[in-house]
Amino acid sequence: MVKLTRRQMLVTATVTTLAPMGHLPAHGAAPPIGKQAPGYYRYKVGSYEVTVVLDGVRSWPLDMVRNATKEDVSAALAAAHLDKEKMTFPYVPIVVNTGSKLIVIDPGLGPNLYEQTKGAVGQFHTNLAAAGIDRNAVDMVIISHFHADHVNGLLTADSKPAFPNAEILVPAPEWPFWWDDSNMSRAPAGSLLETNFKNNRRVFSALGNKVTHYEPGKELLPGITSVATPGHTPGHTSHVIASGSDKVFVQADVALLPALFVRNPGWHPTFDFAPDVAEQTRRKVYDMLAAEKMLLQGFHYPFPGLAYIEKSGTGYREIPVPWNPTI
Ligand SMILES: [Zn+2]
Repeated sequence: MVKLTRRQMLVTATVTTLAPMGHLPAHGAAPPIGKQAPGYYRYKVGSYEVTVVLDGVRSWPLDMVRNATKEDVSAALAAAHLDKEKMTFPYVPIVVNTGSKLIVIDPGLGPNLYEQTKGAVGQFHTNLAAAGIDRNAVDMVIISHFHADHVNGLLTADSKPAFPNAEILVPAPEWPFWWDDSNMSRAPAGSLLETNFKNNRRVFSALGNKVTHYEPGKELLPGITSVATPGHTPGHTSHVIASGSDKVFVQADVALLPALFVRNPGWHPTFDFAPDVAEQTRRKVYDMLAAEKMLLQGFHYPFPGLAYIEKSGTGYREIPVPWNPTI
């Protein structure tokens, strides 16, 4: 219950006396809009312009952490004032304009899911248009790894290339794993892994397998360098965008929802293919981000996914970058 002090009550009484409701001009009730604003946010990295473009949010059951109980996961969500009945992940792709090239990194879950989820996810293409970016003007799409939330947006709702004029860059170590039939046959029937094998073949066949393989650890174009961050998938790759003295680490899925996996870097989400390797990568990257005070862009961070990292207890905590009304 809210308790007002005597002084606060006196002030309230005075205001009421001075401006009784009956003397205020009458307005007609405005109808509620009932729709969220388009999700995009811009910031500069040196002379490069980054546009963060929201794809949406999607929920998963609590039992998708291998080495934590549902109760522990629920408690961590409650501690962050999030829905403690389910894990709700944001999906946050970005677009980089270098001045000479327009580059998408990880185009989200794709417009097919938009209808199915009543608009909760699959917003990337519509938010891209709302941000004033034409899909046909995109020169390059860089993929971090082969999970549906990072590759499905390569296609339109009718399975046509969504970025018809773009070169599609994929991490070289991902390809042989996902295209190996014996790997696919070993994936348990009905598992998320099996779904991913089938989904990757569907998406990249629709593109005629026209992709360029890139090696982690290489500069892909001036100011965008790939970094091997394996574990989440065999060839999972992050990117550093650098221009002038500015830098941002675009981590993809090194850590998923921060309230769970940044606070508890030792927790192993079932989405991580090789959990021990993923944890090693996570700790190495987060130690580096904290030591270098380096800006982080997180694909599964709350929109717009920009934060700094500090060490905290046995894990880390993220300090979100405040919304900047100018660029
Ligand atoms: Zn992901």
